[in-house]
Amino acid sequence: MKKILVVDDEENVRLLYKEELEEEGYKVELAEGGQEALERLDKSRPDLVTLDLKMPGMGGLEVLRKIRDQDKELPVVICTAYGDYKRDLTTWASDAYVVKSSDLRELKEVIKELLEKE
Ligand SMILES: [Mg+2]
Repeated sequence: MKKILVVDDEENVRLLYKEELEEEGYKVELAEGGQEALERLDKSRPDLVTLDLKMPGMGGLEVLRKIRDQDKELPVVICTAYGDYKRDLTTWASDAYVVKSSDLRELKEVIKELLEKE
């Protein structure tokens, strides 16, 4: 079973993603911030990460840089409400970019594609 690490500072988002992604048959782990995400990455070796950009403390871009320092291959999907980041060069280090919505169809499709690519 593929394991997904969901990183988001908002509890309602974490719970929504967990519920919907578990329905898709994934094992889901949650982290509410960058530090926790990096610790979990080490411990539980997820197959894919969904990453919120706007979080207090360590923001998503910093988390992404740290993930890439350790692992160039791990699929990372940036999830954010902020469309402007799409033009930010640093998000190129992610594999996909999804604008947040309560409808997770786009996110699920992107995840499926990335995991099938392996
Ligand atoms: Mg946030």
